[in-house]
Amino acid sequence: MTLLSEILEYNNKFVAGKEYEQFETSKVPSMKAVLLTCMDTRLQELSTRALGMKNGDVKVVKNAGAVISHPYGSTMKSLLVGIYALGAEEIIIMGHKDCGMGSIDVDVVLEAMKSRGIRQEVIDTLNYSGIDVNHFLSGFSDVYESVKSNIQTVINHPLFDTNVPVHGLVIDPHTGAVELVYDGYKKEFYK
Ligand SMILES: [Zn+2]
Repeated sequence: MTLLSEILEYNNKFVAGKEYEQFETSKVPSMKAVLLTCMDTRLQELSTRALGMKNGDVKVVKNAGAVISHPYGSTMKSLLVGIYALGAEEIIIMGHKDCGMGSIDVDVVLEAMKSRGIRQEVIDTLNYSGIDVNHFLSGFSDVYESVKSNIQTVINHPLFDTNVPVHGLVIDPHTGAVELVYDGYKKEFYK
């Protein structure tokens, strides 16, 4: 049985048994916040449970590293839409210790691509056409600096309402303990 068929089979039972009823909630987050965090599997539930958030409380945006790699990319758009169209009034950007994007080796990723058939010429063509592939795949060296730089991207964004508080946190993926990096009410960095 493949993963996909397992998922589809489970889903039939899930719907037939009305298991969805326990998840029914509104489109507007009751805590009126958007949380940007990492896609790390250890944070799948911990990222919200450790902050006292339950289903329906927040908009969660996840990607590799909890980063905003482009001011006009989909992550920034999600934050803006959360604020302007989906009832959020605050933003929380939460990186984590021991993040895969903090130790990612671009050369290893490129080698993995090549071993699966991506040709060097393709990578060269992208580089010539202005896409810096190394930069595109790169992570960060310090999670605190990464959170700070993401906060700067949001608060300096020309389409962002600066009255909206943006908070910065770093979570420990083992214990769920969070450290305050930036208090969006006081507009003060702590790390
Ligand atoms: Zn991570």
